[in-house]
Amino acid sequence: PLVLGIETSCDETGVGIVRGRTLLTNTVATSMDEHVRFGGVVPEVASRAHVQSIGPMIEKALADAGVTLDDLDALAVTAGPGLSGALMVGAAAAKGLAASTGLPLYGINHLAAHVAVDLVAPDSPGLHTPTIALLVSGGHTEILRIGDIVDDIELLGATIDDAAGEAFDKTARLLGLDYPGGPSISRAAAGLLDESGVPGDPTAVRFPRGLSTKKDLRDPERRFSFSFSGLKTAALRTVTAAEAAVSAQPTGTSAAGEASVSGTSGAISSGTAGASTAGSVGALRLADIAASFEEAVVDVLVRKTLLACADTGIDHVLLGGGVAANARLRERLAERCEAVGVTLRVPPLDLCTDNGAMVAALGAEIAARGSAASGLGFGVLSSLEVDDVLV
Ligand code: ATP
Ligand code: MG
Ligand code: FE
Repeated sequence: PLVLGIETSCDETGVGIVRGRTLLTNTVATSMDEHVRFGGVVPEVASRAHVQSIGPMIEKALADAGVTLDDLDALAVTAGPGLSGALMVGAAAAKGLAASTGLPLYGINHLAAHVAVDLVAPDSPGLHTPTIALLVSGGHTEILRIGDIVDDIELLGATIDDAAGEAFDKTARLLGLDYPGGPSISRAAAGLLDESGVPGDPTAVRFPRGLSTKKDLRDPERRFSFSFSGLKTAALRTVTAAEAAVSAQPTGTSAAGEASVSGTSGAISSGTAGASTAGSVGALRLADIAASFEEAVVDVLVRKTLLACADTGIDHVLLGGGVAANARLRERLAERCEAVGVTLRVPPLDLCTDNGAMVAALGAEIAARGSAASGLGFGVLSSLEVDDVLV
């Protein structure tokens, strides 16, 4: 079936069109720039941007795909989870289109769509099931077991506080780096933000690995859960201690609690008490803090994903969400998967971040199976459960 999908759950206004498992177009506008000065997505700002973008994006997608509304067989829209006000814009637009064309409309689950996108990825060998899916973005951190993309999705674990991308964003802000934080921290970790160009040492600062003690891993409630809020606090303590170390003595070691400073590799002391010069945070190199932070996040994500494979006996992993752009995560996940004979699949990055093609892909799969459409009376659900694939 020829299906148009609309995605507005966060800050991307996405419209995608697929014909069965062939991707025809994936048109995305983002309001990311409008959130920069706030250091994170502001729901009201995102909703307003969706209202402006949704019409033009639909027109552009149809034009790019070379089809008209009359050619379509069905419509799909993200019904949740996501920001309510943002979801409402997409749902209202989709319902308007459905009402005027008489096309069936499917209200679908955003998380399932992040996985379903691999059905239409141009380089995809086809979505392999069963698979473990690791979804990591600014709003999500989940490990899912996918037996079937429509009928059998199980949440194995999720973050109990901040999402992985959110942790990058908040810590970047703390370090004085630009939003979005993920790419900024990666650049800093690679040593690209100071003159030396020397990559940071990921073992320089021992940041906490949330919910990863032996006791946590034995507890079925925590085994696949994540906690990233402690990282912010640890990063703050590290910065404070590093700056204090400069005012006290140039190479002073700090008492930073759980995030103790274990190395002073290449520390450039600014010489000015409490001040951070380019490339250094007090007694520490910015690159070292960034690399250590990145390592802490990647470490738990990779470890728990492979634990999920071991527990379920599933030998396929699919990575999705905006944090898939993190090179260290892809590298470490690939290494670990390879080591234990697990096949890793990472869709092209423009299909990992929020987009309309993933919604169209899931809509087409649901339509092909002959499921009843959602009608015009459904609401948006900001915390829609992952096994509610179709509302
Ligand atoms: P949702 O949570 O609904 O998927 P979102 O808009 O929050 O939506 P995305 O747009 O998919 O998520 O991804 C944005 C997030 O990904 C931001 O938090 C950003 O910091 C993070 N990110 C992007 N690039 C990288 C990177 N190289 N390393 C780490 N995180 C990254
Ligand atoms: Mg986004
Ligand atoms: Fe998403």
